[in-house]
Amino acid sequence: MEISLGTPLAAGATRLLLLGAGELGKEFVIAAQRLGVETIAVDRYADAPAMQVAHRSHVIDMTDAEAILALVGRERPDFVVPEIEAIATQALAQIEERGIATVIPTARAVRLTMDREGIRRLAAEELDLRTSPYAFAGSAAELESAAANIGFPCVVKPVMSSSGKGQSLLRSHEDVVAAWEEAQSAGRVTGQRVIVEGFVDFDFEITLLTVRGSGETVFCEPIGHRQEAGDYVESWQPQPVAESTLQTAQGMARRVTDALGGRGIFGVEFFIRGQEVFFSELSPRPHDTGMVTLISQRQNEFELHLRAILGLPLDPGFRRPSASVVIRAAKVGWGPKYEGLSAALSVPESDLRLFGKPQAEKLRRLGVALASADTADEARQRAEKVASAIQVTNFAG
Ligand code: AMP
Repeated sequence: MEISLGTPLAAGATRLLLLGAGELGKEFVIAAQRLGVETIAVDRYADAPAMQVAHRSHVIDMTDAEAILALVGRERPDFVVPEIEAIATQALAQIEERGIATVIPTARAVRLTMDREGIRRLAAEELDLRTSPYAFAGSAAELESAAANIGFPCVVKPVMSSSGKGQSLLRSHEDVVAAWEEAQSAGRVTGQRVIVEGFVDFDFEITLLTVRGSGETVFCEPIGHRQEAGDYVESWQPQPVAESTLQTAQGMARRVTDALGGRGIFGVEFFIRGQEVFFSELSPRPHDTGMVTLISQRQNEFELHLRAILGLPLDPGFRRPSASVVIRAAKVGWGPKYEGLSAALSVPESDLRLFGKPQAEKLRRLGVALASADTADEARQRAEKVASAIQVTNFAG
């Protein structure tokens, strides 16, 4: 069915409510604003990045199903778009069941991907996709035997976590207790289960942005990335991948996104070792490593997400090898200031996003440096130059 778009703030507006208002949400809201979609940004703290560009914003506890239902009842959006994982998914299921709004991509997809167990069991056990060997544990003692079964080295992660939080690499059984404690202290909820994964000695890892529109699935060029302590610090596009390996990865991405269903963009992560492709994980929304598409594609990942949601034609339009390097806070403080902008932006073919986060926490992402060049390697060097020229200074307190 062809969608028609209304006028924001008028009767008949096309309304989109975003649950989570971080930097990815900010770019998504900007894309929606460009098509005159009315945007409502929601997060647990005031002045979050996407709130600063949305028509309205609300501060609520998004793990509280009643709070989400009450807000959706008041705002009456056409689309509810989760931007983060820590959401009361029962509320999304009710919104979908009662036909109040379309949940992106679907309430079930959001539930299955909010913890590592749901998506791993779907991918490995139902769809038979190749993954690292894995097991789940609910106590230090269970972790001890699970790690012994999987073998060392192995990786332990809280099932509800992202960006490397609470993640440990275990070299021997002596590391088990510390890994359990680390997972408990850093996970989103305490007393939670962990996944133990066999360590994959991969050649490189990729994010395959997979866009499910109305009737078509479109892939972006593979994105390479580098992680430090489980968190993304640098990404580039394209990451060269042998044709047959890429086809394998695309086939796996298609199967898992078809199984999840709905419309929108998915960040599907793979480890590549020789010709082997391991499915790692998936986010049913724009991906942080995909910020490189802000410069590398004609339609960036946020525009593609919006177009897919609205059922509009998709055409990523890869332009030129490009890279992104994150800009992080060195210390904690309110109202960070940014210096070195002229030097940063005098780098050829460069660009910059500062997210406007009100508070800097140590190593929290505050911005991203972008650059293009003839090759991805050169683009990485340029983006690194941009990022290192920016100094985060002068905190209010
Ligand atoms: P995740 O939060 O699961 O995406 O993990 C963050 C990063 O840690 C990944 O992008 C990899 O660089 C690394 N990592 C996670 N799991 C494994 C594994 N089983 N083997 C090797 N590296 C891993």
